[in-house]
Parts: sequence; C-alpha cells; structure tokens
Amino acid sequence: MSGSIVIVGAGLAGSRAAEAIREYGHAGPVLMLGAEQAWPYQRPALSKEVLRDERVTLPSLWLQPERFYSEQRIEVRRGVIATALSLEKQHVALSSGEAVSWDRLIIATGSSPRRLAVPGAHLPGVRSVRTWEDAVALREDLRPGSRIVVIGGGLLGLEVASAAKERGAHATVLERGSALLSRSLGALAGAALTPFIEAMGVMVRLRTQVERVLGATRVEGVLSTFGEVHAADLVVVALGAEPAIGWLAGSGLTLGDGVVVDEFGRTSAPGVFAAGDVASPWSPSLGRRLRVESYGFAAQHGFSVGQNAVGAMEATFPNPSGSTELFGKRLQFSGEHQGDETCHLMGEPARGRFVALLGRGGLLVGRVTLGQPHTFGVLKACLGQTMARAFEILGEAKPVEAR
Ligand SMILES: Cc1cc2nc3c(=O)[nH]c(=O)nc-3n(C[C@H](O)[C@H](O)[C@H](O)COP(=O)(O)OP(=O)(O)OC[C@H]3O[C@@H](n4cnc5c(N)ncnc54)[C@H](O)[C@@H]3O)c2cc1C
Repeated sequence: MSGSIVIVGAGLAGSRAAEAIREYGHAGPVLMLGAEQAWPYQRPALSKEVLRDERVTLPSLWLQPERFYSEQRIEVRRGVIATALSLEKQHVALSSGEAVSWDRLIIATGSSPRRLAVPGAHLPGVRSVRTWEDAVALREDLRPGSRIVVIGGGLLGLEVASAAKERGAHATVLERGSALLSRSLGALAGAALTPFIEAMGVMVRLRTQVERVLGATRVEGVLSTFGEVHAADLVVVALGAEPAIGWLAGSGLTLGDGVVVDEFGRTSAPGVFAAGDVASPWSPSLGRRLRVESYGFAAQHGFSVGQNAVGAMEATFPNPSGSTELFGKRLQFSGEHQGDETCHLMGEPARGRFVALLGRGGLLVGRVTLGQPHTFGVLKACLGQTMARAFEILGEAKPVEAR
C-alpha cells in the first residue's frame, strides 16, 4: 500500500502502530496526532512509581527516544486535538481549524476517566489520574497526615490508596460493588483482597455510593448514600475509563463501547482501523465484544493493527489480564469473568499471599495470585485444562463458597 497514514492518538497503541508500519516496510508519509504535549509515554507508572517517587522523570517513561520518530520519518504533532472525522472527504478536522487528509486512518485515542456525576464533583481537590500532569499534581498533594478518599475500588483506586499510605497519608476507598477489583478479578477473588488492603491500614467501604462531595471553596469530604461523611483533603475519582470516541460522533463509523473492529482492527469504514483502549474487538471465547484497557493488549493490538493497515492480516483477540504492585505485593490476573465462575482460594489473603483458581464447567478459566509470581506462571499451562489437573500441579486446594 502507498499513500499517507494518519494515526490519531499519540499514546501506546498509536506509537506501536507507527513502529509496525515502518517495520512492515511502508515508505509513505506517517503522521501521528496527539492531544498531549508529551512524546508517547507509558501510563502504568503514573499511579505507581510517579506517585511514590519525585525522581521519576517524564523522559524515563517515553516509549521511544525523541530521535526515533525523526529517524523513522514519523511526524508527530503534539498538543493537537482531532475534533471530527469525515469518511467521505477522507480527512480529520483539528482543533487548530486545519484538516488533514489520509489514505489510511488509525484511531488510537485511548480512553478518558469516567467522571463523578454528583454535586461538588467540580471542587478543587477532586482529581483523576490519566496523564503525567495529573500524576505529578496528585503526588504533590499526597502529604503525610493528609486524608485521601478514593472513589472506586478498581486497580487505579487501589494503586492510589497504596501510594497514599506509602507517603504517610490516610486512605479510604469507597466501592459501590460488593468486592474490590471485581471487574478484573471476579467478585470472589476480589473479595479475598479486602482483608489484605485493610490490613495495610486502608479503610474500605463496600456497597457504598457517593451522594455528594462536600466543601465550600475546595473539597472537605464525601457524603455517602448511607449518610456517612468521610472527611477528605483530597478526593481521587477512579471510576474506570470510557473510550475517547466523542470526536467520532456523526462520522458514520459503527460505535458501541468504543470503535467496533474485527479481529484485524478494521472498522466499519474501508481504510479505517482502530487499536488499543478505544477499540471494541470481538472475543470468540466470550461470544461478545470486549474492550480491554491494558498495557499488554494496547501494545500488541497497536502493533498488529499498524501492520494490518499496510497490508498484513494478523488477527488479535482481547485477552483480559494485568498485574500491579499493591503494598509491595505483586497482584497478577488473567481470564474473562462472566459471573458464573467457581473460585478456589488458597493461601493467607490477610497476609498478602493467595492463589485463586477460577473455574467454569470444571475447566480452569482464570487465575489470580497475590504475592505468588511463580505460581501465576505455573498456572498458565493449566488454563483450559481441568481443575483437577490444576490442583494436581498446585497441591491440595481449599475451596471457598462458589456463590
Ligand atoms: C494511571 C494509569 C495506570 C495504568 N496502569 C496499568 C497497569 O498497571 N497495567 C496495565 O496493563 N494497564 C495499565 N493502564 C492502562 C494502560 O496504560 C492503557 O490500557 C494504555 O495506555 C492504552 O493505550 P492507548 O494507546 O490505547 O491509549 P492512551 O494511552 O490513552 O493514548 C491515547 C492518546 O490519544 C490522545 N487523544 C485522545 N483523544 C484525542 C483526540 N481527539 N485527538 C488527538 N489525540 C487524542 C490522548 O491524549 C492520549 O495521549 C493504566 C492506565 C492509567 C491511566
């Protein structure tokens, strides 16, 4: 394929797509447009190392050195927002008033934090974490003795609580579901995490929703729907993210929970592809679309979609998995959750070590480990095999209530 390729979104998926386009041998112009001023960088460190350590610099998180883009003749325009897409004219309108035309387009605009829609949510001191600037601003406010209320007990929320405690702040996590991290781990394995997080000194409130954020000129607390007031110097909203598809409204592209794509990253429009957090690919094992927000997926998907945009045909399927570090313990998980899994739990959750085997129809469909990286690796070979086989490998299991 010859002609110009425009990538909208200069994050992980966009950057990996650009790399792949050149590796596949495409010689034509490649233009990457990014809303942020920064060169493409890794986000996972934002809620971990960056919150803990002032010495982490933005260049240390860059996906590629600055010179990479000029050497590869990838034009990167930073601080530019795509505002609309015309499929008919094959161009993207920009916030600057210009329009750029494309022969192939890759949409890699990622996702943006879900907003807290209650009174007071606009008050100074209510924050989210998506960009380098967000993380640095939050770190500056995480002071010894300060009171942080985190809204949302998912990965990001727990990472922020962990970093807050490490910096000597008091942390409370409000989660509206019945377990922490239930979207990533399933409700049963998620429930096993609560004793550990509480043992680390974080106050956890489950089944708790926010009625309003309190404060006159800046945040002073959070009122729950139970009428409980949680005093706060800082509120971090960690309610998950939504695909950044606002600029595609009215374009004619098929949208759902993200940009609908096939296994090759092709959208409903010829020559238009989507990759990473913004894409909504089909999961054959689940029998439905599954948008995945994970570093590993965005890196892999971005690369294969980049190649596919210039002639390859590499299929990629969503594979929910992830890992993080909470209070010095590695949490790792993989597998899709439909809510009908059984969960066999082994270990001592309150002491930060457990293994959870998730089964369906007698087969191992997911694994969660805390502080057990070796076991997590061992279990990979057992996925799709019988639970009996997994137990054989791991020794005797102690089942917990499945429901
Ligand atoms: C704080 C944090 C911690 C995380 N930790 C982990 C982790 O530990 N493990 C893990 O697996 N995953 C983690 N993730 C998720 C992972 O970082 C994302 O899945 C990954 O970055 C997705 O890459 P992406 O390129 O699809 O989107 P993004 O990285 O979001 O990049 C999209 C880019 O597009 C830009 N953009 C958006 N709209 C427009 C527009 N209209 N015009 C121009 N540019 C636009 C955005 O500004 C952004 O720079 C974390 C995410 C965050 C925010």
